[in-house]
Amino acid sequence: MLIFANPFENILDFAKGIKTPIFTIKDLFLLGVIYLRIKFNFKYYENTTVHTFFSKIGFSKKFISLFLKPFFSGVFLENQLRTKMNKFQEVFKSFTDGNVFIPSDGINSLAQQIAKNIPKKNIILGKEVVSISIDNIVSTIDKSKYSAKIIVIAADKLNFEYLAYRKKRNLISSNFNKSKTLYFSIDDNPELKKFYLYLNGSNEGIINNLIFLRNEKYPKGKIITSITIFKSLELQQDVLAKKVIKELKLIFGDKIKNHKLIEIFSIKELINSSINHKYNLCISNNLYFCGEHCGVASLNTALKTGRLAAERIIELKK
Ligand SMILES: Cc1cc2nc3c(=O)[nH]c(=O)nc-3n(C[C@H](O)[C@H](O)[C@H](O)COP(=O)(O)OP(=O)(O)OC[C@H]3O[C@@H](n4cnc5c(N)ncnc54)[C@H](O)[C@@H]3O)c2cc1C
Repeated sequence: MLIFANPFENILDFAKGIKTPIFTIKDLFLLGVIYLRIKFNFKYYENTTVHTFFSKIGFSKKFISLFLKPFFSGVFLENQLRTKMNKFQEVFKSFTDGNVFIPSDGINSLAQQIAKNIPKKNIILGKEVVSISIDNIVSTIDKSKYSAKIIVIAADKLNFEYLAYRKKRNLISSNFNKSKTLYFSIDDNPELKKFYLYLNGSNEGIINNLIFLRNEKYPKGKIITSITIFKSLELQQDVLAKKVIKELKLIFGDKIKNHKLIEIFSIKELINSSINHKYNLCISNNLYFCGEHCGVASLNTALKTGRLAAERIIELKK
C-alpha cells in the first residue's frame, strides 16, 4: 500500500511522499500543466471523455491505472471514465480552488441548512408531487392541491421531465452512472488512517475506494468505513456485504474487527453528462426549473441555477 499527499493541493509533497514511484517525471509535468491550465480557465475540448483525454495527453499507463483511474472513478462514480471533459474540468477546478470536505453530519446537512432559513409555515416536506396543471395547480400523492402564481421545479432530471412534459421515467438510460456505497462500523484501530482516501489501483476485486471516518457521535471505540463499488452491483445485500468485508480483510488483515453493516446506498441515477448548458430555466411565464441537470451535474450547478431562476422571477415581478 502506498500513502501520498493530495496532488491537487501540493504536487511537490505528492512527488516527495512516494517511495515507489507510480508516475514518471512526464506524468508530474502533465499534471502540473493541467492544474495551471484549468486553474486559469484555459479550457480543454469539452466533448471528449476523460479516458481518451488521459491516454491522448500522454500519461503513463501505470499512473493512469494506479492513481488517475481509481481516483476519478470514485469522483465520477463510474469506472470507465466515459465522463465528459466538461465535468472533469469543473471538478478539477474545485480541487485547485479549495479543500475537499464532507460535512460531519452528512451531505444532507447542506439542504437542511438552507431549509432552516425558511419559515416553517412556508415549507411542506415529505409529499411527492404527482402533477402540475397548466393553471399552476400542484397535486401531491396524498391528493392535496396547492396553487401558486409561479412554480419552480427543482426535482432531479427524470422527475422534472415527468412533471414538466409527462415524459416517462426511463431508468435504462446510458446517461446514468450506477454505484453502491456500503457503510460498516468497525473497531477503531490507530493503524487504520482516518480521512485518508484509499484507492484500489490493482484492477482486482470490487472495492474501488474507501475511507475510514471518525465522528464524536459514533459510539466510543468505533469508526465507520465508507466503501464505494462499481462491480457486483446485482448481488443481494448480504452476499455483497460479505464479499466486501472479505476483500477489506485481505487488504487490512486483522485490523478489521467486529464489523457491522450499517447501510448500503444504491446510486442508480447519477447523471454523467448533460446537454443543456444555456441555463434556459423557463418553460412558461409561470413555470421554471433548476437543478444539476441544467448544466454540469454538481451541487454548484444546482445552487447556481436555483439562484438564476429566482433572479428571473424577481425580475419578472418588477
Ligand atoms: C455519492 C455522491 C457524491 C456526490 N458528491 C458530490 C460532490 O462532492 N460535489 C458536488 O458538487 N456534487 C456531488 N454530487 C452530486 C450532487 O449531489 C448533485 O449534483 C446535487 O445533489 C443535485 O442537486 P439537485 O437539487 O439538482 O437534485 P437532487 O439533489 O436530486 O434533489 C432533487 C430533489 O427533488 C425531490 N423530488 C424529485 N421528484 C419529486 C416529486 N415528484 N415530488 C417532490 N419532490 C421530488 C427529490 O426527492 C430530491 O430531494 C454527489 C452525488 C452523489 C450521489
